[in-house]
Amino acid sequence: MFIDTHAHLFFENFKEDVDDVIQRAKDNSIDFIVVPATDIKTAKEAIELAEKYGTDLCHCRYSSSRYKRLE
Ligand SMILES: [Zn+2]
Repeated sequence: MFIDTHAHLFFENFKEDVDDVIQRAKDNSIDFIVVPATDIKTAKEAIELAEKYGTDLCHCRYSSSRYKRLE
């Protein structure tokens, strides 16, 4: 099992090819991708990715303690 522990797949530079990026990850035996949010907006985007691609591939991790520090 391989895990990509840090990929901001919601960034603008992935908008055009996130499907391909995730397919390549699957093809290369990546079982999980942790998509760390940077704020509440990207937390929602990370959840949308997890819902679209499945929690077996994308796992949205969001630290509420970090968010509190950002405020
Ligand atoms: Zn980061």
